[in-house]
Amino acid sequence: MAEPRQIADPASLQREMLAARAAGKRIAFVPTMGYLHEGHAALLRDARRRGDLLVLSIFVNPTQFGPHEDFDRYPRDVPRDLTIAEKEGVDVVFLPTKESMYPPGASTAVDVAGVSEPLEGEKRPGHFRGVATVVAKLFLIVQPHVAVFGEKDWQQLAVLRRMTADLNLPVEIVGHPIVREPDGLALSSRNVYLSPSERTRALSLSRSLAECESLFRGGERDPAALRAAAEQILRHEGPDAAIPVTIDYVAIVDPDTMQPAAAGAPRMLVALAVRVGRTRLIDNRLLA
Ligand code: AMP
Repeated sequence: MAEPRQIADPASLQREMLAARAAGKRIAFVPTMGYLHEGHAALLRDARRRGDLLVLSIFVNPTQFGPHEDFDRYPRDVPRDLTIAEKEGVDVVFLPTKESMYPPGASTAVDVAGVSEPLEGEKRPGHFRGVATVVAKLFLIVQPHVAVFGEKDWQQLAVLRRMTADLNLPVEIVGHPIVREPDGLALSSRNVYLSPSERTRALSLSRSLAECESLFRGGERDPAALRAAAEQILRHEGPDAAIPVTIDYVAIVDPDTMQPAAAGAPRMLVALAVRVGRTRLIDNRLLA
């Protein structure tokens, strides 16, 4: 497998990608913040099959972090990421600096109303504005035909689908299922923050989602009942119930709009954001 090419300059990459498009190449794109794990690798494998040229971006985007969030301590390991990129057949790795993405005077942002407002939007003001802006910029630099995102960040995917439709961006948006550890924990770059006992406690997220799934299969269609069942498990279950767990939200929502689900709806999304110790984790499951 050939080593992927590394490009840092946005204008150089854009020039190359425009030329590749003109030459009839199909460009597949996976945007990430790096510190790659098996979830990212699954996205890359999915994207690899969808294009001739596979582009991975690694950029810890400052504008999507709040002032008290973990931008400075977000884990980074570019050499290791490059090894994974090579193994997954990435052609080009885009590694911009924050100065090249946001030069002095940059003052344009993308705001997606509605779908970005509840849940993560409410708990992390400005987060989706940062995400939508950087993804719009990345789309214009990379010029992809198709971009693959994880369902792990379900609301992000919904926001980006909305943005892509509203701005007539010529990009196919693909959602990839959540990749989990064998014990159910959704893979996340932030899992490295968890101590062993916090990690055990974190299993209550996937357990509460599994409980909602089984209630839904049994015919439960009352969002309040599903939410209560999930909360019960998050608060009390697990051998390490002593580890502090703070629930940011447990929500049963419409999977497209992220608005509260109606009782009896045929499709509902259970979305969770929970702090285990100092680490904020999100997870979700579609009930349908
Ligand atoms: P991040 O580097 O955390 O910004 O994530 C980059 C992409 O990988 C996003 O589209 C995420 O939704 C996706 N992703 C992260 N973790 C997972 C996972 N466990 N399963 C599937 N996709 C994931």
